[in-house]
Amino acid sequence: MPIRSLIPLTASAAIFALLAFVMVRPDLPDVPDRPGVTSVQSGRRASAVRSSRPLFIATIHPVAAIVREITGAEANVACLLPPGVSPHGFEARPSDARLTAGSAGLFYVDPSLDGWAASMPGAVPVSLLALVPDANLMAPYDPHDPIDPDREGASGAEFEDDLEDGHEQGHEHGREQGHEQGHEHGDSIWDSHFWLDPVAVEALARPLAQRLAELDPEHGDAYRRNAERFAADLAMLEDRSRRTLAPHAGDSVVLFHPSFRYLLRRYGLEQAGVVEGYAGREPTPREFGRLIDRIRDGRARAILTEPQMPTRLADALAEATGVGIAQLDPIGGVAGRATYADLISYNVDALAVALRGGGQER
Ligand SMILES: [Zn+2]
Repeated sequence: MPIRSLIPLTASAAIFALLAFVMVRPDLPDVPDRPGVTSVQSGRRASAVRSSRPLFIATIHPVAAIVREITGAEANVACLLPPGVSPHGFEARPSDARLTAGSAGLFYVDPSLDGWAASMPGAVPVSLLALVPDANLMAPYDPHDPIDPDREGASGAEFEDDLEDGHEQGHEHGREQGHEQGHEHGDSIWDSHFWLDPVAVEALARPLAQRLAELDPEHGDAYRRNAERFAADLAMLEDRSRRTLAPHAGDSVVLFHPSFRYLLRRYGLEQAGVVEGYAGREPTPREFGRLIDRIRDGRARAILTEPQMPTRLADALAEATGVGIAQLDPIGGVAGRATYADLISYNVDALAVALRGGGQER
């Protein structure tokens, strides 16, 4: 075997050994079995393992992809959830707790989406959504208002009504299905899926660099430089996305769950309805019937599915209406959807293809 091909093998073996060491170090307490002692021990361990290359943890891939843009080569960023798993209703495993306990920071989206992260032992939790300026955020999806018109004019009182209602419904249906989905969508005044709007992420770049610099002052200057570069890249990505979707402005689609509202709003697309108003909560037959009616009225050009969600209902909807299905991906983390820009471009292109070819005749 030529020596050249041995080098990468050796390098990956070394990385694997290092990872294995981090994961199974014998001094690690069995976190879930000893809840009383973990906070003290993990706090001490966290400071002990901090090196010139800190480890940051992200809950889901888009969070990891965004944080990596800012850290560059100065830090390691590990992601807890595999690409095919929805953060809605996820439950952390003991191995996740071992990883976060040795980290310099745990980045998650928002209590309403992946708030389970905030209570993991030994971690310093940082909500990305909390760093996004309010002006870039959207109110949560309201299942009683499925067409989702521009809600900017809604009063505070209306928001409160929505939240209370959402909260009750969420708990009800969450329990029925045996998931902890109750507090999702109910605990936040914002729709948590902000990362699907490149402009919101651009607004996040500098505050995120600042937060990373607080957690790891040694690399603060590099983080701030990377944030400037990332913001410039995002401006180009936004421009490209806008040009791709401009011919489809005003077209409407059916969402599988309220994941892509930010992307639709950014590029002037409409939402004809949502299959699961709360992730994991199937529509009643009456709601499903109303959705079919709206699609038959010609209000939808495509039905969007997601790799992390079941497709049975979307398939039934497509069959009943003749409207085509397009798979988008809010999470990414697989080939071609690894970087933040690739994730957005993948979705923008898939949407453009669906709106160009699919959908019913108008
Ligand atoms: Zn979601």
